[in-house]
Amino acid sequence: MDTPVASTTSTTTADAVLAPRPVERLVQGQPTSDGAGVKLTRVLTQNLQRRLDPFLMLDAFGSDAAADYIGGFPDHPHRGFETVTYMLEGRMRHKDSAGHEGLLTPGAVQWMTAGRGVIHSEMPEQEEGRMEGFQLWLNLPAREKMREPWYRDIRPEDIPEWRGGGVTARVIAGRTQGVAGAMQREDTEPLYLDLHLEPGAQFAQPLPAAHNAFVYVYRGEVQIGQNAVPQQRMAILANAPGSDGVALSAGCEGARAILVAGRPLNEPIAQYGPFVMNTQQEIFQAVEDFRAGRLA
Ligand code: MN
Repeated sequence: MDTPVASTTSTTTADAVLAPRPVERLVQGQPTSDGAGVKLTRVLTQNLQRRLDPFLMLDAFGSDAAADYIGGFPDHPHRGFETVTYMLEGRMRHKDSAGHEGLLTPGAVQWMTAGRGVIHSEMPEQEEGRMEGFQLWLNLPAREKMREPWYRDIRPEDIPEWRGGGVTARVIAGRTQGVAGAMQREDTEPLYLDLHLEPGAQFAQPLPAAHNAFVYVYRGEVQIGQNAVPQQRMAILANAPGSDGVALSAGCEGARAILVAGRPLNEPIAQYGPFVMNTQQEIFQAVEDFRAGRLA
């Protein structure tokens, strides 16, 4: 079928970025523990929620020591947003009050929309070996916060990949180089890429200037414009007017990094632990509903 506008570009050409965003600042995560004593690094902390709207939190976990993860995350509630868990190594079992259950294996993603509320557990299904991955919290617009809970386990083989020029991009959400990711979200248009770069490899991703974006490097080192972004650092990308994307390259040892971007909701954010709503009143209601057993 003919299209009236010549907006389709060949998927054989890598997406061009002519005015890449500079790095606004580098962030070092805060070591903390959550659940039943799971050690993790909180990379996107509460004070960055406005800056990185619609993203509310990013935890990076990675340890070879079972004592750091064996306690897992026993039953706890959520309301008002989505959790996206991406496993690099290890196995984690999920069960929730809506009757969902699934096993996360290396390379798998679990996308859970808490909506009006779920109670769930996230427990390691191993007693030794490495556990590594990320949990990202994605906000919901006000009108979606009390929707029915929803859940999807995405198997490793169901995450589309793009390869070219020494780069493998696992496309968890959004779209890159003509490849649609495993998940799409209309309101926030999240982009979530896991980039594996060979030494010296380059990658460019178009991004609307108004979308908030960051890169977190988990292996090696990445260069973005004038900035070297070392391992275990998050680079917040400036929303430079007129910019059209991000361009990055790997250092001489290659690199692995996640690139996350989304359209800000620009709505009030009220958070109390695992509840993220728009007003304090809604938070009180969430706590009350939880105590009264209305989240299960
Ligand atoms: Mn949880």
